[in-house]
Amino acid sequence: MHPAADGALARVRLPGGMIEPRQLEALAHAANRFGSSAMELTSRGNIQIRGIRDDEAATALADAVATAGLLPSPTHERMRNIVASPLSGRVGGSADVREWVRRCDAAICAAPDLAALPGRFWFSIDDGRGDVSGLAADVGAHVTGDSVALLLAGRDTGVRIAPSEVVPTLISVARRFVEVRGDAWRIAELTDTSVLIDGLARSAAPGATWPPVSRPPVGWISQDDGRIALGAGAPLGVLQARVAEYLAAIDAPMVVTPWRSVLVCDLDDGVADAALRVLAPFGLVFDEGSPWLDVSACTGSPGCERSAADVRADATRAVGDPSTAHRHFVGCERACGSPPTGEVLIATGDGYVLRKASP
Ligand code: SF4
Repeated sequence: MHPAADGALARVRLPGGMIEPRQLEALAHAANRFGSSAMELTSRGNIQIRGIRDDEAATALADAVATAGLLPSPTHERMRNIVASPLSGRVGGSADVREWVRRCDAAICAAPDLAALPGRFWFSIDDGRGDVSGLAADVGAHVTGDSVALLLAGRDTGVRIAPSEVVPTLISVARRFVEVRGDAWRIAELTDTSVLIDGLARSAAPGATWPPVSRPPVGWISQDDGRIALGAGAPLGVLQARVAEYLAAIDAPMVVTPWRSVLVCDLDDGVADAALRVLAPFGLVFDEGSPWLDVSACTGSPGCERSAADVRADATRAVGDPSTAHRHFVGCERACGSPPTGEVLIATGDGYVLRKASP
């Protein structure tokens, strides 16, 4: 929970973005009962519930989240930041990394010393397609053929590890960071990162990076097993609880992506077709040419007291304006949720100033 201008804000972490339908349904019900029904999908693939009015509502909401199995470790909740290739195991990629995500989450929660990891630190696991390595998480694994590249701050260290070593190595780097970080919140803030990989041999040239991906997979996506995944973009990251209930009613596994969208997976053709017809009128984006995918925004006014403007309203007005870059509207210099590429428009109270996005 975090305080905000519109009441407390609950951030529910979803390692790898994975969420079961009953869990999304539970969050939707909790949002309706205890907070704002306008839930938010974050740029880390998490779900936020805002507008929690008082302590009683906060306690009830936390109970609902825990009952849904989404709060496995109160001591390590803020550290369960794992982003992974959302389509892994279903479409393309060089490996199925879903089990690594689950094991990494369990290993984080089982490590008492990692309770001291800053809440902004995050892990990435890319199945080789290069979609999440470009997000420049603090420590990452990127499948390269038969082995796995170890990344620090989105950059290849040149260290190659066996698939069986992925989770122990990620945990080991995180532990080392806790020991040496001083005042640093992120690995990118360290002047010397070699200390994090002491004892690990380099077997490839270091330094490679991956271009950031800024658009989600949307629409009708054919899985390798012949079934269908539906990719649904949420305009400005807002997922209304009522729409979430419809998504949950499809009763299929889901993945919240770091591009503020939801994948509804493992559908037969008929179910996918019916779901698409039901969901499209609710404003979810299934068209990859939609101008909504070119615009994003932080919370802004009135939810965030730091904001100089109602940035969501301004972003909505800007949808469809000619632009060659993704535009992210923010209410202050903190520029929350900025994507790694494109333009960030910062509200001043008298219009916006422009700056290039940076990871
Ligand atoms: S960028 Fe500023 S105004 Fe927007 S949510 Fe973050 S702190 Fe609030």
